[in-house]
Amino acid sequence: MLQQTQVATVVGYFNAFTLAFPTIVSLADASEDQVLSKWAGLGYYARARNLHKSAKLMCERHNAQVPNDKDALLALPGIGLSTAGAILSLAFNQTHAILDGNVKRVLSRYHQVQGHYGQSQTINKLWQLAKRHTPENRNDDYTQAIMDLGATVCVRSEPKCDQCPIQSDCLANQNNAQKIYPQSKPKKHKPTKSLVMLIFQNKAGDVHLKKRPNKGVWSGLWSFIECKPDSQSIKKTIREYTSKKYNIRRMDLIKHSFTHYHLNIQPIIVSTPQATIKNNMDFFAIDSNDLGVPSPVAKIIARLQAER
Ligand code: SF4
Repeated sequence: MLQQTQVATVVGYFNAFTLAFPTIVSLADASEDQVLSKWAGLGYYARARNLHKSAKLMCERHNAQVPNDKDALLALPGIGLSTAGAILSLAFNQTHAILDGNVKRVLSRYHQVQGHYGQSQTINKLWQLAKRHTPENRNDDYTQAIMDLGATVCVRSEPKCDQCPIQSDCLANQNNAQKIYPQSKPKKHKPTKSLVMLIFQNKAGDVHLKKRPNKGVWSGLWSFIECKPDSQSIKKTIREYTSKKYNIRRMDLIKHSFTHYHLNIQPIIVSTPQATIKNNMDFFAIDSNDLGVPSPVAKIIARLQAER
């Protein structure tokens, strides 16, 4: 959960997740929908699917235990060198370097490392430094300390250098260059895309949700029918699902941002006087909370709940 995400955001999700799945076996036995529903809103859903697959593999290969061997950990989906290092160091007190976002930032400033994280030579240099600093003794304490230093003192903006235990040797601090390191990737303009979400609603107020494919955006989550935002596409798509009279109502626009683009979503409620929806569509009560839905869909459902 902490990959790409801050502790403060994760805490609530972590508590709910570990309450629902307190053991590796219970996670392995859960359905993908159950797992995704507890992850919904946290983003980067591949992490949830990888964790689920890893739990199954740990049951098959490691007697439902987290392996204490680097190669065995790296063979699990979603675990790279840094996560494997963190597990081996923190859980098993073995000597391994880690290089998560916090550690990268501390080392980049401490050594004034040139280049940005998108460049392999920069990452290689940071790994070299991470290994050089990693001690044999009390490796778990060191790992926790350097992560916490990055998370609480050497923070992204306004690092608290006057409270930092390594301030006297830090090059960025000596040169008053904290803002320059880590060096950032040249910014690309993020395009804005638009789409319509069609919320088919039956007489009972239930809405149609469809499971998205297991690849691409919001993979494996449940969402509304989507189409392009022009009026022809909207009419055509509605006609694919209902042949009877229908009413439409536009809700306020929802803006959502991904790493590479912004998305403007126009939600449109499509209600029909009778149950006239084609294709055996699945309808769900808007109170049901056991489906994993992307956050814009959760926002639309919350608005529908507020309107009742
Ligand atoms: Fe980061 Fe400042 Fe400490 Fe250097 S002195 S590691 S810039 S907090």
